[in-house]
Amino acid sequence: MRRTRIFAVFLTILLLCAGCSRQPEPVQRQVFAMDTFMTLTAYGDGAAQALADAEGYLTVLEDAISVTQPDSDLSALNQAQGSPVQVSEETFPLLLAALSLCGDTGGALDITAYAAVRAWGFTTGEYRVPDPQELAQLAAQIDYSAVQVEAVSRTVTLPDGMAMDLGAVAKGWAGAQLHAQLEQAGVTSAILSLGGNIQTVGSKPDGSPWRVGIQDPASDQGACLASVAVRDMAVVTSGGYERYFQQDGVTYWHILDPDTAAPARSGVASATIVGPDGTTCDALSTALFVLGAQGAEQLWRDHPELNFDYVLVLEDGSIHITQGLENAFTLAQDDTDRKVTVISHE
Ligand code: ADP
Ligand code: MG
Repeated sequence: MRRTRIFAVFLTILLLCAGCSRQPEPVQRQVFAMDTFMTLTAYGDGAAQALADAEGYLTVLEDAISVTQPDSDLSALNQAQGSPVQVSEETFPLLLAALSLCGDTGGALDITAYAAVRAWGFTTGEYRVPDPQELAQLAAQIDYSAVQVEAVSRTVTLPDGMAMDLGAVAKGWAGAQLHAQLEQAGVTSAILSLGGNIQTVGSKPDGSPWRVGIQDPASDQGACLASVAVRDMAVVTSGGYERYFQQDGVTYWHILDPDTAAPARSGVASATIVGPDGTTCDALSTALFVLGAQGAEQLWRDHPELNFDYVLVLEDGSIHITQGLENAFTLAQDDTDRKVTVISHE
């Protein structure tokens, strides 16, 4: 009897050790695409090939939707002056998804804001503050509902003078496509960091959830103020601190309010969206930054089908999280006295 028990203990230890030594090594790939550094990490059989394929996909997608490459679909659209343009198989479904999300957000996300983005110099780094008259003209030309699409021929028509940019949704879309591709390749554990967009695949190799940090918008050093524990989810943050310039003591950032064509000032310092669909998360991170705390809450209540939760860090440092994240959300240890409000369905 006792011998059996000793043997059982011995066997358990042996199995545990075997388990440890079988922990797969990560495969990692650094990619520069879509104007940002990306780090792709995956574990297990097939991970190396899957990440090589992922890099290939990112290049193809970037070539299709870049606003700076002269032969991309987006450049063709932005130069067409009102004529229809046939776009590639890569661009068309992304564009449709983006337009649909523009509608869901009541135009807080508007992919036709590009002329304004350009006027502020956010594409070139030659920053300037357009005067009120110019802003009024730019705002009048932002209207996603004026974009015409024809599905059979994959044809898109922009009104003359309007310009489009998929930058607010492209990395989320890329994450979602790669999630599907990696799953198909049999990868059950991966984390993709696509410049502020995190896409997780499955869980950590030991089966525990991924912990994704949320940056403190007020920290110069990029310190994290909290984390969320997730499996198979995207975690996407938009913040004014990501790209901005200062002039005469005023900070101007790259997320614009489509109503004014000027940087959105809603009292939100950063918006993080957590959900199963990367495209939705990316679109909503931009939109919630524009909408502010009240608008965010309204959108969350009105659109359960979008299947998302959020963490808003407000400019006064307080935090709003939605109910679905209550158990997944942890404040950083040195930050535990921060005010956190949980938004619930009641
Ligand atoms: P990032 O791409 O820096 O992670 P976002 O996903 O929030 O951040 O996208 C911001 C980019 O989208 C801007 O750089 C600009 O090109 C474009 N943009 C800015 N404001 C809007 C808006 N209200 N709707 C759609 N696109 C926007
Ligand atoms: Mg976004």
